[in-house]
Amino acid sequence: MNVYDSERMLQQMHVLSVFATDVIDDADVIIINTCAIREKAVQKVYSFLGRLTAIKRKRQDVRVIVAGCVAQQMGSLLIQRFPFIDIVLGTHAVHRLPEYLKRLDRDGGPVIDTEMTADIPEFPADMPVLPQNTVSRHVTIMRGCDNFCTYCVVPYVRGREVSRRPEDIIAEIKMLVSAGVKEVTLLGQNVNSYGIKEGLVSFPQLLEQVNDLGGLERIRFVTSHPKDLSEDLMNSFARLDKLCNHIHLPVQSGSNWILAKMNRKYTREIYMDTVIKLRAISPGIAVTTDIIAGFPGETDDDFAQTIDLMTSVEFDHIFAFVYSDRPDTPASRIPEKVADPVKGERLRRALEIQEGITRQAYSRLIGRVFPVMVEGYSKNQLKSGGVVQWPQIELSGRTSENRIVNFYAPTPDPEADMDFSNGRIQNVRIDRACENSLWGTAVKQDDLCITPKKGEAYVA
Ligand code: SAH
Ligand code: SF4
Repeated sequence: MNVYDSERMLQQMHVLSVFATDVIDDADVIIINTCAIREKAVQKVYSFLGRLTAIKRKRQDVRVIVAGCVAQQMGSLLIQRFPFIDIVLGTHAVHRLPEYLKRLDRDGGPVIDTEMTADIPEFPADMPVLPQNTVSRHVTIMRGCDNFCTYCVVPYVRGREVSRRPEDIIAEIKMLVSAGVKEVTLLGQNVNSYGIKEGLVSFPQLLEQVNDLGGLERIRFVTSHPKDLSEDLMNSFARLDKLCNHIHLPVQSGSNWILAKMNRKYTREIYMDTVIKLRAISPGIAVTTDIIAGFPGETDDDFAQTIDLMTSVEFDHIFAFVYSDRPDTPASRIPEKVADPVKGERLRRALEIQEGITRQAYSRLIGRVFPVMVEGYSKNQLKSGGVVQWPQIELSGRTSENRIVNFYAPTPDPEADMDFSNGRIQNVRIDRACENSLWGTAVKQDDLCITPKKGEAYVA
């Protein structure tokens, strides 16, 4: 969500002829787009603002804008603590950034906008598409959340759930595609409830409309809440050729007692059943998840159930976090807090177990061929910084399952359809598996007897 909002801010700045720079001392405007999901993220904002004090002292004309969830949560308190801030831009005010910059020039500041509005403002359809990352982009389809998981700050800082109109979403994706974008990730805190309140099309219907767009190659979405993942949405994985073979399905905990305390509204049995159904509908689908370690009241036994669920499901990847108290959330008022070292130890254990699961799962992929969308040079290649020549060029891309694959590409050969420009999908045979990535070699289309489809893998 923040990546998307940052892009929206950059787009608006582009219109004002203000462009991104990597050098903070060169910046006329510094925008800090913040996250409040965990205490650590908030601390990072404060320490960054602390560092800006010196910059602002030296160059008083530099504009400092704090946007995002910390801006929304703290409002004028941020200015009390850091009086040099010029604009506090709440989560519903992203589209007013240009107006506030003008107001600042005209009337002085600070400007504080933390108003929560009922509708999602639409940006003009002809906003310039930023040159950064033209292969894959995020598109927000809804804002806010109505689920109120007891640990979570999102409903308070992003407000109630609202869905964008399908025609606006489609127009935005068309614009991205016309600029060369090949993959979109549709964003919502719970895409399952897309359009329900507003009586719009359902999420699977929206996916179908996106799937019909010419020029777009891949569709992803985050996040689907396990409590209401419909059969219709599950079937979309089989029905829609562009929908990638990956689902992020945050489980949070494997203990039914903790899940109830979290207000997640599903049990471990329902969750595991959903994964079985998904795997039957879309063979080889990669399932990733989020885990919270040390929710208040979580015992060793509760956490053992999380580990047990992880080993039964065999996730492709997990994002694990230690529980962090968030202001005003019901969980922050539960007195039985888990001690920091215990939380840390549980997190370490979850990550260690997952490492083993991923290593095993990845080693089973060796020798198989997957369609990979080229995203650019591999990290190694970029770091080496040397002159690169075919066929030593190391590229990087992702499979439909969202697994990163680094691979050597042969000299481009249009006759053999061996084009490795960014956004092209080419077959790569997996030769080697690392902790979080795979290494392989591009193979020619005609080395395979059948044309690979989404998510299918072939033994070379
Ligand atoms: N809407 C998404 C999650 C958005 S927040 C969903 O429900 O799946 C992303 C992740 O941050 C959550 O899945 C959760 O694992 C983690 N998270 C949220 N609040 C947290 C907190 N207070 N402490 C630790 N992790 C938290
Ligand atoms: Fe937070 Fe739960 Fe909403 Fe996800 S579904 S954003 S975890 S309240």
